[in-house]
Amino acid sequence: MVARIVPVDPFDLVVFGGTGDLSKRKLIPALFHRRAAGQMPADARIFGSARTQLDDDAFRDLAREAIATYVKPGPDERDLVDDFLKQLHYVPVDAKSDAGWAELRERLGDDPNRVRAFYLSVSPSFFQPICEQLDKHGLRTETSRLVVEKPIGHDLASATSLNRELSSVFSERNVYRIDHYLGKETVQNLMALRFANALFEPLWNARHIDHVQITVAESTGVGGRGGYYDHAGAMRDMVQNHLLQLLCLTAMEPPSQFEPDAVRDEKLKVLRALTPIDTATIGDAAVRGQYAARGDEPSYRDEAENPSSATETFVALKVEIANWRWTGTPFYLRTGKKLRSRMSEIAVRFRDVPHSIFAERAGTFAGNELVMRLQPDEAITLQMTIKDPGPGGMRLTGVPLDMSFAQSLGSTDYRMPDAYERLVMDVIRGDQTLFMRGDEVEAAWAWIDPIMAVWASEPSGPRAYDPGSSGPEDALMLLHRDGRRWREIAI
Ligand code: NAD
Repeated sequence: MVARIVPVDPFDLVVFGGTGDLSKRKLIPALFHRRAAGQMPADARIFGSARTQLDDDAFRDLAREAIATYVKPGPDERDLVDDFLKQLHYVPVDAKSDAGWAELRERLGDDPNRVRAFYLSVSPSFFQPICEQLDKHGLRTETSRLVVEKPIGHDLASATSLNRELSSVFSERNVYRIDHYLGKETVQNLMALRFANALFEPLWNARHIDHVQITVAESTGVGGRGGYYDHAGAMRDMVQNHLLQLLCLTAMEPPSQFEPDAVRDEKLKVLRALTPIDTATIGDAAVRGQYAARGDEPSYRDEAENPSSATETFVALKVEIANWRWTGTPFYLRTGKKLRSRMSEIAVRFRDVPHSIFAERAGTFAGNELVMRLQPDEAITLQMTIKDPGPGGMRLTGVPLDMSFAQSLGSTDYRMPDAYERLVMDVIRGDQTLFMRGDEVEAAWAWIDPIMAVWASEPSGPRAYDPGSSGPEDALMLLHRDGRRWREIAI
């Protein structure tokens, strides 16, 4: 069973920061895959744009190398690569001066019916200058889309001001704030599982769900990104966007339609229903950590070149949602760097049966758990308890019902599309469902800000944890106090 590819309309996509890391690692490969799949039309054009002085050929060389590194096309795909590269162009511009903008306008042309999108793959400090230049030089058409990457601000005030800057040039219906987690197949499957099956919805509430765990664990440290990271930290870099978005999709009410504002209205209601963390007893609900050194491996502070850094590389939270559906069911969130393995998942733990009819010797129940795995491989499993097969009497054992995509799709060589492939095509189609609206981003910051304020004033700082561990001891206590335990951070 192979999904039918619906080609998008011809488009012009300008990637500001086209020579940067995100463009090379994610955007160019994603566009190539969509071209290979027949979804991107042969007359679509991609314009790389940055301050570096390149011409079309030099940009095509850069793109060829990016495809060789990140896509690794086979020998039979050589012509396809060549065809794709012909669709790439380059115009040097300086975001902070008038240099290059007239040429960009000329090369884009004046066809009002052609889809036009501007992807800001640059530092957020360039968002406003680029929007102003687009406006000043008449590059923005009525339907031009603007795509922005995280971070959208570093607190509520800066996010509000950034949103205001964007909306002074682009209307909200044309702004696409990317959270690439929403482009993952499994995350969209969470919505399909919940809203296209009658099985789960009656159970999807505090009466039947004991708790939810959302984990985004990385095994690597900050490496060379220490300078940037030291101003952000795990709460701003991961929780404010990715983890809270995953929480929203797990917790939201069924929208009336799978349509951008209907979905985003429901996510916003969840964010606004988050119980503020009691700052007087913050340690009972929010734990922060920072990885220490191990052997020759440097500590976070070494990598950030800041010996007194109080930036957290690990966060664990107990989040409560004050509404009818979820009161009594905590959502535990954790994310961190240099943990035991690279693993991301949403685990929905159902309540145990009210009474066991089986004798103690039958063994214990594993408990039903729906696990949506986002990394390293995307998969969904439902943990069930069954009878251990064989003549050994009534013994119970836990088995995972595996809904792995490759198997379900009847093919073991199915390539899971990268999130950016889906999201960039959605931008061209004009579908904002999987993008964050400005008010969602602000509501997430409004909940985070008080925690960050307490942490900033606490002299104790983050707890040190060992690289390769599951984070600081205090994070384990967060669940132990409630008689629960974290799932293993393991592949
Ligand atoms: P990068 O530093 O690799 O690239 C920045 C780009 O901006 C370069 O192409 C550079 O030439 C261009 N640029 C710099 N000054 C300019 C100017 N005055 N005028 C025009 N162009 C200029 O950064 P990146 O890692 O590609 O990240 C880009 C954005 O995406 C950032 O906002 C980042 O936070 C965000 N982001 C990146 C990733 C990632 O995986 N790299 C992931 C999520 C979000």
